[in-house]
Amino acid sequence: MIIVMLGNIGTGKGTQGKLIMKNYNIPYISTGDIFRENIKNNTELGLKVKSILNDGKLVNDELVNQIVFDKIKNLDSFVIDGYPRTIYQAEKFENFVNNLNRKLDIVFSIIVSEENIIKRLTGRRICPECGKIYNIYFDKPEKDEICNFDGEKLIQREDDKIEIVKKRIEEFKENTEPVIEYYRNKNILYEIDGEKEIFEVFNDIKRVIDDYIKK
Ligand code: AMP
Repeated sequence: MIIVMLGNIGTGKGTQGKLIMKNYNIPYISTGDIFRENIKNNTELGLKVKSILNDGKLVNDELVNQIVFDKIKNLDSFVIDGYPRTIYQAEKFENFVNNLNRKLDIVFSIIVSEENIIKRLTGRRICPECGKIYNIYFDKPEKDEICNFDGEKLIQREDDKIEIVKKRIEEFKENTEPVIEYYRNKNILYEIDGEKEIFEVFNDIKRVIDDYIKK
């Protein structure tokens, strides 16, 4: 089964993608995580894409496609998050999958209001020591900007700063909204309300997947 997680930034598609991975025991691939991991490890790829991510722009289509194709070439089932993000990627992805005699099964579009997306992302703070994630609007630490567990000063992801978040939202509208329409026209798009609690959102997702499996 091939599942695609679409949706604006900050809608929780990564969280839901990982829940799908655990529940259905299929690999989870996130292009954003691949880039961040490479940046952290100072690899050649990381050095190439660091300023693009920090600027809230999109990495070159051919490069992303190459990375994804290499990851999925031997996988029968997977859930992919953050890809495809442009019509060009969507078309090449479909060709690649079809050439392997497989097809995309389900595309989820998770929907959250722009106001909440901005709060979720610009409010996010991370402990550099233990990785615990807080939110200054929804899930504050006991002391401002300090981790409850180890007293470390919390940090903000470079691309969670307001001006970059706004750019990323614009990038989504320009490039990825057309991808959602593309899948809507193919009748494989399922829209999910992402404003609910994490497990309620997952229940909605699970219902779609379970119905699809039964058919
Ligand atoms: P994400 O965590 O999915 O929001 O991705 C973080 C960043 O990685 C994006 O803002 C882009 O710079 C880059 N990125 C991730 N996936 C893609 C993609 N499919 N196409 C182009 N750039 C991507």
